[in-house]
Amino acid sequence: MAASDPARVRSPRHNPTNQMKIQKPTRYKLRQQDIDPDPNGYILNLPAGYQFKYDTGCHVRGFDTMKELRDEVRTAVIPCSCKDCLAA
Ligand SMILES: [Zn+2]
Repeated sequence: MAASDPARVRSPRHNPTNQMKIQKPTRYKLRQQDIDPDPNGYILNLPAGYQFKYDTGCHVRGFDTMKELRDEVRTAVIPCSCKDCLAA
């Protein structure tokens, strides 16, 4: 490993498209893997970057029915940038 390969060392400053990698979080879409069945209904585990609008800072919530869960996803899931989400 004596010879370094200059072609592999690139400064990000010379790559303007690098900035495009940071995208604003888009609207949450319900995914099957985010739902856990529960004896009382369903648990929705939001992925990092989303939270519940009427319960800010909350990323996990239980619902009695899939209808309630879907309604909540449609109307009350917003982007989140809390430290937990940023660390994820
Ligand atoms: Zn968060």
